[in-house]
Amino acid sequence: MAEHTIPGGAAGTPVIILKDGSTQSRGRDAQKNNLLASKLVVDIVKSSLGPRGRDKMLVDSLGDVTITNDGATMLKELDVQHPAAKMLVEVSKTTDSEVGDGTTSAVVLAGSLLAKAEELLDKEVHPTLIVDGYLRASEKALELLDKISVKISSDDKDTLNKVAVTSMLTKLVADDSEDLASLIVDALLEVATSDNGFNVDLDNVKVEKKPGGSIADTSLIKGLILDKEVVHSGMPKLVNNAKIAIVSSPLEIEKTEMSAEIRIDDPGQMKMFMDEENNILSSMVDKVSSVGANVLVCQKGIDDVAQHYLAKAGIAAVRRAKESDMTKLAKATGGRIVNNIDDLASADLGKASLVEERIVEEDKWVFVEGCKNPKAVSILIRGGSQRVIDEADRSVHDAIMVVKDVIESPAVVAGGGAPEFEISHKIREWATSLSGREQLAVQQFADALESIPLTLAENAGMDAIDAQVDLRNRHSEGKTWWGVDVNEGKVSDLFKKDIIEPLKVKEQIIKSATEAAAMILRIDDVIASGKMRTPPMGGHGGEEM
Ligand code: ADP
Ligand code: MG
Repeated sequence: MAEHTIPGGAAGTPVIILKDGSTQSRGRDAQKNNLLASKLVVDIVKSSLGPRGRDKMLVDSLGDVTITNDGATMLKELDVQHPAAKMLVEVSKTTDSEVGDGTTSAVVLAGSLLAKAEELLDKEVHPTLIVDGYLRASEKALELLDKISVKISSDDKDTLNKVAVTSMLTKLVADDSEDLASLIVDALLEVATSDNGFNVDLDNVKVEKKPGGSIADTSLIKGLILDKEVVHSGMPKLVNNAKIAIVSSPLEIEKTEMSAEIRIDDPGQMKMFMDEENNILSSMVDKVSSVGANVLVCQKGIDDVAQHYLAKAGIAAVRRAKESDMTKLAKATGGRIVNNIDDLASADLGKASLVEERIVEEDKWVFVEGCKNPKAVSILIRGGSQRVIDEADRSVHDAIMVVKDVIESPAVVAGGGAPEFEISHKIREWATSLSGREQLAVQQFADALESIPLTLAENAGMDAIDAQVDLRNRHSEGKTWWGVDVNEGKVSDLFKKDIIEPLKVKEQIIKSATEAAAMILRIDDVIASGKMRTPPMGGHGGEEM
């Protein structure tokens, strides 16, 4: 023990610089540990890459089960402890938040870069040289990627559809991917703004989910779903040609904060007092009705008396709507949120062709539909069970992200490992112009890129070596888009197969994988401080931190 004590202090006594219980590993040892831990993480996610990849069933400490094919979700659910392994988990997280897809690929590539680096470390090549070579190679890769990518226009529905389908083909929702894709593309093009290049603000796409029905029942609402019911049974449950007042103040008499005392001497006064309250509420409702509203959505409460008057006026009302829904409703219907009912004017009303209360499984929800030119929309995900809709939600999220990527940066490449193979081939050619040692690392980088198509082939039960030889031949013949067609179990032109992905995702995969590999390779000293023990907590037992 006590590697962290240095023998031979002033009087021959060891100098202790680390807390008791700390451990330290250095140099080649530290590196070996880190590489091993990374390899274990990669092995977990590797078999899930691609349409033929398998799913993982994860059970957390409370017994909750998650079934997923999404690399980021897998690693999030796993409670990874090793620091280097944690860095790989970070890779998948960054990729997920930046571009929403490619999380498994990023981890697989990072793992492969580390494995290829280890071969060089074994030959005594200094880690700094490897890192430098990797960084240069990754810059070159990004440049080449951009060059081979196909530029499209942001509203090219056909290509956007293909991109969405490709991202979902690898998931549970594959069978319904065509329908889901066109729904997602419609949703995003609806809310896209185009003042400085195209932009999609995902806050304007509300995704609701409800178990029941099947995934094919998932629908796009050009408007908003409010998970609230119409407040009063006497109100209409269906309003055509809706004119919606969107009000953030209550339709109630504000109760005074202090306990005020009102002295009432005779029953007549009591009646006057109550009439007064009724009059205020009735005039609020009159205002709503007079500007021509037939629907009221209120962020606060609506008094029973006001509900009664609203029902009498034939106005459907919803109370206690979420603040975020108020904003979306205004955007969807072209209305304006009004703070003070006295200021309400007909120009503030939002418009929708239909407002209807519907029963969705056990809940009553109000659907605001058929908005003209809505700047906010909703997607309602349905599916057999909670677990199915949870995974469907994740896949829809990925598809939304890739479509957003392409709308905002309109360039695409084919999938199936074709672009990775192509740039690997080009980088190997370029490497010959570099000096000896640097060349070594760059060539390893090129090899690592092949791990994506080769893993896809392996997961599809193909012979990876055959695929590699075949692809090397094709790419030296200049066949840029040849990759692994996992459905046919052979190599072919993936562009022709409509397997199309955003350039942005491929760029992000290379960026985050290279960064993580470089970070792990630069480490030559791992110092872990002693374990802190927290006292046992009621019933749960002690937890180590
Ligand atoms: P990631 O989390 O990296 O997106 P996926 O499991 O979604 O992982 O797999 C993505 C990989 O699968 C990409 O390289 C993509 O090109 C590839 N892919 C998707 N569909 C096909 C297909 N039909 N044939 C071949 N490769 C495909
Ligand atoms: Mg994917």
